[in-house]
Amino acid sequence: MLLPALSKAKGKTQQIYCLNSMRQLVQATHMYSNDNQDGFPPIQAAMGSYETTWRSYLYRYVGDNPNLYDCPVEKKEVYALGKLTTNPTGPAALQVRGKPVEFEIDLPSGIGAVNVHWIRGGAPPPFGRPAPIYEGNMCRWNAVEAPSKLVLFGDGNSDIYGAWQHDRWWIWKEVGDANSAGFNRVAQGDRGAVRHSRRSNYGFADGSASLWNAALIPCNTVQCFWSAKADPH
Ligand SMILES: [Zn+2]
Ligand SMILES: [Zn+2]
Repeated sequence: MLLPALSKAKGKTQQIYCLNSMRQLVQATHMYSNDNQDGFPPIQAAMGSYETTWRSYLYRYVGDNPNLYDCPVEKKEVYALGKLTTNPTGPAALQVRGKPVEFEIDLPSGIGAVNVHWIRGGAPPPFGRPAPIYEGNMCRWNAVEAPSKLVLFGDGNSDIYGAWQHDRWWIWKEVGDANSAGFNRVAQGDRGAVRHSRRSNYGFADGSASLWNAALIPCNTVQCFWSAKADPH
């Protein structure tokens, strides 16, 4: 058992480690965009008969390091462990990590990418999904109006009901109309949103990262940190 002071210090170390991972993920996204006509990677895309996630698109830009997709506080949903959500007690699927292959989508992550207002025609998210299967709301950097006020990555995922077994790598609006203002991860009940002493880490499009009370992240008719548009709703 840790003494309270030691336990507090450990918590702070984990939070800083996670914050650093967020910064590297944002950097990796910029590198990906430089090589791909200024475009963001899809949050999720079909590759033939299967689907894959943002993590496979960024993998080489994070130096093939699966640990950057995880938060040290989260022990169960860990990308680096290579455990499929579809078969968590089965054999490790380490070989699919970071690859645009079948079952990569089934690996959970400690850190999620942002596709909050995901329905086409709403506040455009940084990580969209390509047509024709999905919304066709892919984003480019020239659409980002306020990089220091656009969240790209955050702690955890939004699958609060456990309804989307594959989707353990995505922050989205689960409650109410996906495009409406008022997204509040704390009110929504996202466990990841209260991971670091009731707060959570976020990586912003300008390369910064910071710890937030997720309930205070703006999502209103004047300002929304979850949208490429500065005034989206
Ligand atoms: Zn974290
Ligand atoms: Zn919003």
